[in-house]
Amino acid sequence: MFVYADHAATTPLKREVLDAMMPYLTEQYGNASSVYALARDAKKALEAAREDVAAALGVDRREIYFTGSGSESNNLAIKGALGALERKGKHIITSATEHHAVIHTLMRLQKCGLCELTILPVDKYGLVSPHVLRAAIKPDTVLVTIMTANNEIGTIQPIGELSKVAREHNVWFHTDAVQAAGHIPMSIENVDMLSISAHKFGGPKGVGAFYLRSGIKIPPLVDGGGHEGGLRSGTENIAGIVGLAKALKLAVDNLASNTLKVAAISKLVTQRLSEIPYSHLTGHPDMRLPGTVSFVFEAVEGESLVLGLDTRGVAASSASACSSGTLDPSHVLLAIGLPHEIAHGSLRLTFGEENTTKEAEHVVKAVSEVVAKCRAMSPLWDDDKPTERFWSESVL
Ligand SMILES: *Cc1c(COP(=O)(O)O)cnc(C)c1O
Repeated sequence: MFVYADHAATTPLKREVLDAMMPYLTEQYGNASSVYALARDAKKALEAAREDVAAALGVDRREIYFTGSGSESNNLAIKGALGALERKGKHIITSATEHHAVIHTLMRLQKCGLCELTILPVDKYGLVSPHVLRAAIKPDTVLVTIMTANNEIGTIQPIGELSKVAREHNVWFHTDAVQAAGHIPMSIENVDMLSISAHKFGGPKGVGAFYLRSGIKIPPLVDGGGHEGGLRSGTENIAGIVGLAKALKLAVDNLASNTLKVAAISKLVTQRLSEIPYSHLTGHPDMRLPGTVSFVFEAVEGESLVLGLDTRGVAASSASACSSGTLDPSHVLLAIGLPHEIAHGSLRLTFGEENTTKEAEHVVKAVSEVVAKCRAMSPLWDDDKPTERFWSESVL
């Protein structure tokens, strides 16, 4: 049996999405900027896709721009705000649990002296406090960027409240909604910029979208022929864009039923994994993505866990040391207060609507076996003297 339980990394392309894309990968190869009928058809498909994405997000079609990825959309928001508001300042506020596409972008800008950074702490569930955000805003703050839902622990931020604080202080608010879009309802009333990526909701890889509130002007990352209203030059990836729009529409139209299905699988797995001794759910118990099951297992190395699961036909992931090529465990797990040695034993299982109860049972069995096997080999583990294990109840 093979079980794909890594939907936060990427999702399988939906059949209907491929069908919608297919004409634009074959006969409909026109360049949307040309003038003949073949090109006009491409342009029509592009604008219909923009309309669909806008409708799915509840915004105007003129507020949607297509990009090459979620990472690019995040870069556009950050560098765009700095470029547009040069005269106001260069102070940016973010949170300690952002995706690398935000954190590494900000770190590089800071290193080059192009921005000044405040990284807000999170509580043990990974939540940012609106009060803490309010206190961090300065007269020269140009942007607040806080993710809608976390890709490692699934915690959903109170974006409605956080964006309201930014709005009250006249500061632009961007949210990386890559894990959230198509998976949970979103409140973007006071959001000025938002990033999404097709491959996280059943669409193709290498295409993203960017919401920019009308009335806001930012400079592009890529200059050229002036595509996408001058915000993102480069001949449009029509097939990819059509795929993104179709996948988002499917996800949003079926949100309620998919959520029920996926949440039932997650609940089963969470309950069963909680029964493993010295295991702890990470992230918020309720305010979390329906498909994300994230745990730490004491005296287990996350990397071994993932490799062991692979041999049992389960594709999962861990924010452990080796996979990232460094000795530091995930910045997200450290930010929620886990000690290094416990953060090393992380496991992330992320489910999608095609997963079945039978698959969930297989995953639970495989995790239990692999955890036991890892512990049997661990110098940190001693079955006879359980009290001598490091014990983290106070932390979690
Ligand atoms: C996957 C992901 C990204 C990056 O999106 P790409 O399209 O793969 O570049 C950004 N933010 C979050 C939260 C993600 O999960």
